[in-house]
Amino acid sequence: MTYRGRFAPSPTGPLHAGSLVSALASFLDARAHGGSWIVRIEDVDTPRTVPGAADDILATLAHFGMHSDEPPVWQSERGAAYAAAFERLQQTGLIYPCGCTRREIADSLIHTHARHATLAYPGTCRDGLHGKPARAWRLRVPDGDAARIGFVDRWQGPQTQDLATEVGDFALKRADGLWAYQLAVVVDDADAAITHVVRGADLLDSTARQIYLQQCLGVPTPAYLHVPVVNNASGEKLSKQTGAAPLDRNAPLDALVEAARHLDIDVAAHSIDAFYSATTAEWAKRFGR
Ligand code: GLU
Repeated sequence: MTYRGRFAPSPTGPLHAGSLVSALASFLDARAHGGSWIVRIEDVDTPRTVPGAADDILATLAHFGMHSDEPPVWQSERGAAYAAAFERLQQTGLIYPCGCTRREIADSLIHTHARHATLAYPGTCRDGLHGKPARAWRLRVPDGDAARIGFVDRWQGPQTQDLATEVGDFALKRADGLWAYQLAVVVDDADAAITHVVRGADLLDSTARQIYLQQCLGVPTPAYLHVPVVNNASGEKLSKQTGAAPLDRNAPLDALVEAARHLDIDVAAHSIDAFYSATTAEWAKRFGR
């Protein structure tokens, strides 16, 4: 096996202690397997992209001793690949236009919740737009047993999600015309021949959708490992929205040691090189071949 891993930050702000944990875990997993580690800038969501943030993230990673083994991939340059995948799915009849507004979906969810205790998109536009203009494009998920997607997460253990009752038909192209994260990530992982995805546990919930989409597109499913997210003092996931502080580039070793501790790896290191040797060895013991 040729191990290929990736770190896929969204350039919505500078790296913080939470995103460093995901970067470090993916980097250590690639090193522990003697594989490649590739950075992908997930700037498909242009309204959320902050100018300069991507370059800042790449510079911070380099400063912390993490260098992409190949030129970084930019989602903003991959529109043709997403369009080609979308067309393939369109030919299979698996996707359909949806005319529901956010408001209508929210209203129907409350309604549905009362009756079936489900929060999934109720499939209102599956059989037609009911005279409404098309907004988003959704992928039809299977019904019944086929809707249950299972996988074994290398950190979190066995997982299952019922796409029909827990998610519903999900958007591949958004109402604002942008490609949805789920489509972009699956097409990018497949085109880069990614074998191992290591990322934050906030994305555990997206994984079944991604596996189903891989099956629809006939591309391989990588191995998944989701590391615990870092929370702030109020128990919210660290993010720009919850006011996470940018990493201090003057103290990379302190931040790295702290990130490793979050991954249950305790090392005392006096240099960045020593830090990576010690943590890679520890990681390999737990997750290596
Ligand atoms: N861009 C996503 C994020 O920053 C990560 C996507 C992924 O690793 O699949 O949360």
